[in-house]
Amino acid sequence: MISAAHSAAARQNGILFGGTKQRTHEQLEADFLVKVNKDGPIPAHVPHLGKCWLWTGSCDGNGYGNFHVRGKPSKSHRYSYELHFGPFDEALFVCHHCDNTTCANPNHLFLGTCALNNADAAQKGRAKFVVPPQPLLSPEQIQYVRDHFIPYKATVSMLAKNMGVSRHSVKWAIYGSYKKST
Ligand SMILES: [Zn+2]
Repeated sequence: MISAAHSAAARQNGILFGGTKQRTHEQLEADFLVKVNKDGPIPAHVPHLGKCWLWTGSCDGNGYGNFHVRGKPSKSHRYSYELHFGPFDEALFVCHHCDNTTCANPNHLFLGTCALNNADAAQKGRAKFVVPPQPLLSPEQIQYVRDHFIPYKATVSMLAKNMGVSRHSVKWAIYGSYKKST
């Protein structure tokens, strides 16, 4: 009898708990989807990823959609990532392949670090938050390095000293672009 009563209570608790949890989750998803327009533009540089999902709710000053998740202010693209791919480290950024900050299409999103997000934004010309200045060289200086670098003869250190720039900059001119082009 005890066992039957216990299991009945457990079952009831389970139903209540499960029901509440599921409802909240579904409500959240519904609240999210109702504010998403899945018929957005196809990003020209990544057309294979399909249309952007435009956030029609309010946005912050940087163009990211505002969305409350479990009582806490969050962003629509971050919630979309969690909704479709599961929980992730909150310290990570959810970045956009499509460069459209209002987009919440999970296929357009990827996880990145602060540095990666800044570099990605800078590369796409949307550096809102400041990227630490890279000690990069002018096109002429890069050409100079490439023309004059000879391993063991005209070394990175020598070129850097001659040009009055850092060794890091010279290395970047020599190796950075090689990595990029492969
Ligand atoms: Zn997009």
